[in-house]
This record gives sequence, C-alpha cells and structure tokens, in this order.
Amino acid sequence: MAQNIHVAIVGGGIGGLAAANALLHRGISVAVYEQAGALGEVGAGVFIYPNSLRQLERIGLGDALARVGAKVGSGSEYCRMDGSVVGKILTTDSSGWNGMYGMHRADLLNALADALPASSIHTGHRCVGFSQDENGARLTFENGNVAEADVVVAADGINSVLQRYVVEPSAPEYSGFRAYRGLISADKVPQWKREAHQVWMGDGKHFMVFPVRRGELLNYVGFVPTNNETVESWSAIGDRDELAASFAGWDPRVTGLLDKVESCFWWGLYDRKPLAKWTNGRLTLLGDAAHPMLPHLGQGANQAIEDGTALAVLLQQCGTSGDISEALQKYEAFRHPRTSLVQSEARKNGLRYDSKYKDLAQRDKEIANSAVFRKSLYDYDIEKEAIDLHV
Ligand SMILES: Cc1cc2nc3c(=O)[nH]c(=O)nc-3n(C[C@H](O)[C@H](O)[C@H](O)COP(=O)(O)OP(=O)(O)OC[C@H]3O[C@@H](n4cnc5c(N)ncnc54)[C@H](O)[C@@H]3O)c2cc1C
Repeated sequence: MAQNIHVAIVGGGIGGLAAANALLHRGISVAVYEQAGALGEVGAGVFIYPNSLRQLERIGLGDALARVGAKVGSGSEYCRMDGSVVGKILTTDSSGWNGMYGMHRADLLNALADALPASSIHTGHRCVGFSQDENGARLTFENGNVAEADVVVAADGINSVLQRYVVEPSAPEYSGFRAYRGLISADKVPQWKREAHQVWMGDGKHFMVFPVRRGELLNYVGFVPTNNETVESWSAIGDRDELAASFAGWDPRVTGLLDKVESCFWWGLYDRKPLAKWTNGRLTLLGDAAHPMLPHLGQGANQAIEDGTALAVLLQQCGTSGDISEALQKYEAFRHPRTSLVQSEARKNGLRYDSKYKDLAQRDKEIANSAVFRKSLYDYDIEKEAIDLHV
C-alpha cells in the first residue's frame, strides 16, 4: 500500500515542492524541510515547457498555473544581434495542445506550495545530517529537530548537503558566464509582442526576453562572459550599466529595453558533469542536487518536475511490501540518461546562442535543426514512460 510510505523531502524549491505534489497525488505521505524561514523565490522568470506542464496539469495544478502564467507562443524567434531573424522558436509539443508558460518564479512556487497541506511544509529546517538502517532513515536539523522517514529525497539544490551521503562530492563547474537578469513592467515597452520569447545571438553572448505573470511583466536575461567568477545567488545585485554596455549597438529592441532597466540581479552559471550515482539505500537525489544544468534549454526546473513524477510512479508501484532501495535504483537508472542528455544539449545550445562558430551559417542551420530535439523533449511523457517500465 503506497500510502504507508512516508517520504521526507529536503529542500522547498521548485523541484522539492513539485515532487511533494506528485507523491501526494499518488497517495504517498510527504513532509518538506526547507532551510529558509519562509518559502520564496526571487523576482525572475522560469519557463514551464510542455514536458512538465502536462504533468502539473494532470495532478490538478492547471488552473492555478493558467491564472499566473504568461502564454508563450506567437512571435517567438531567434535573431542575430542586429535583429535579423534566424528562425522560429518551437513553443508547443507536436499535438499543438500542450503549450508553455513564462512564469514568475515566486508565482510558480506559490502555486506548488498552495496545493500542499500547510502541515507538510517545515520551514526553518536546515538539514545537517542523515543516517539510515533497515527500518528507516533519519534526518537531523540545525535547529535540533529530527525527522524519520522511509525515503529521503535530497532536493537541496546544486550545493546539496545530502549529496555526500550518496557519492564523492564534486564541485560545480563555472561556465565563465554571468547572467544579468530582472523583470520590467510590460507597460514600459508597449510595442513588445506580448506572447513572444525572443533570443538575440552574437559576439560571444546572448540576450533573451519572455513574458511572465499573465504578460504584465517581461523577464530579460543577458548572458555575458566574464573571468570574474560570479556567485550563484539569485539576490546578488548586478551592475545595470555594465549590462547595458555589454549589448551596446545591438538591435534597437534590445538597447531600447535596456534603457528602461533601472536595476538587475546577476547569477554565475554553473553545471556539473553527470554524477556516477544518485542513490544510496533510502536516499536519492532530485533536481539540481542530482543534475544541475546550464539554462540554455530552460530545462533545469522542468527536469526536476519530471524527476518528481517518475519517483511518485515508481514508489507507488513499489508500495511498502516492495523493496524501496530497488525502486530508488530504478528511478536513478531511468532518469540518469535523460537528464545527462539534457545537460549536454544545454551546453551545446549555449555555444550556438553565443555564436561560438567560425561559420555562422552552420550555427543557423543547427538552430533550425534544434527544433527536432526540442520537439522530442516536449513530446516526452514521463508519467507514461515510468508506468510502462512496470509493464
Ligand atoms: C539564469 C537561469 C535561468 C534559468 N531558467 C530556467 C528555465 O527557464 N526553465 C527551467 O526549467 N529552469 C531554469 N533554470 C534552472 C532552474 O532554476 C533550476 O534547475 C531549478 O530551480 C532547480 O530547482 P531545485 O528545486 O532542484 O533546486 P533549488 O531551486 O536550488 O532549491 C533548493 C532548495 O533547497 C533548500 N536547501 C538547500 N540546502 C538545504 C538544507 N541543508 N536543508 C534544507 N533546505 C535546503 C534551498 O534553500 C532551496 O529552497 C534557470 C537557471 C538559471 C541560473
């Protein structure tokens, strides 16, 4: 009986809360432990693509996301730095039914948290230790509390504390890039196409804009190389003038928008080569703790949501009479190849966006062909694939 399994999730980010929803939906009891005093995400955008949107809709979150998401579709294009068009950006799956949203990260997090019983979320719980035996797993927290569970999911991000209980820790790799990002009221740039995701590529860097929060805000990100390693913190204040100077002389739509920007954040871009292992007995990794990736396919959070769906299906199938450790091994074996592929494709896409090509015609050809990979990403139905594993 799946409902007798109790899962403790460490980390109340997008990955942890999405997993909690997926597990609860399948009758599995959950508790989420978050180190911060309150759940929260910063003022920045995140894409929710068809591959994860269909999973969130299936567990009843469709209306909540539709209320706060911004539909992304018409007018979405890749451009060169001068504004000339390279091609269209794919924004639906092949059925054309499942589209995508640009979301304010806080709106997404709130939608995920609001769907959970308040009693299942424990803020102010910084996990500092883990142990396990044949009867269960035990977490210890900085505040002196302890928690027991049948399964522990480490959704504690790229600098995961629990990762060391699974695998020899490896430091995240700095990409040499800094992302300047922020939100601007759509009213400030009234000529902007409301549903458009736009990417400008050139000169070793790239810039992108997409709508969030019903289209009331535009999320912009400038990806700029720097030798100064930048912390990966959503709250580090960036230099607005440096951002504007980095894109001086680009398409007037870019420079015009940057003229209106008053402040921004910056974030160092890191990923990590695929880990050798995600699972040790009752403990498994999920989201950035398992597979941090560069944001050049916008899939980090989407893959974390897929992880949660897969885990929920496999733990439900396992039930208390099954072997939990075997179910977690199955989850790892199932998810590892897909997330490793997305990690490596995200790196390649970054090279295209930053125009690191001798022959730009070749880059343009690859951008056109990348729609094939995107289509396969968006069409993939993780729930169906996980259920089919059992058949
Ligand atoms: C510039 C940029 C743009 C991006 N755009 C997109 C996009 O469009 N689409 C997309 O899918 N992804 C995108 N991503 C990636 C995405 O943000 C991440 O992959 C995703 O947020 C990871 O979620 P997570 O829950 O695994 O980790 P996190 O969001 O890092 O959450 C981890 C949580 O664990 C908590 N925690 C940490 N340690 C402990 C502890 N010891 N005890 C308790 N709690 C702890 C943290 O406080 C945090 O709340 C982007 C990333 C960047 C940098």
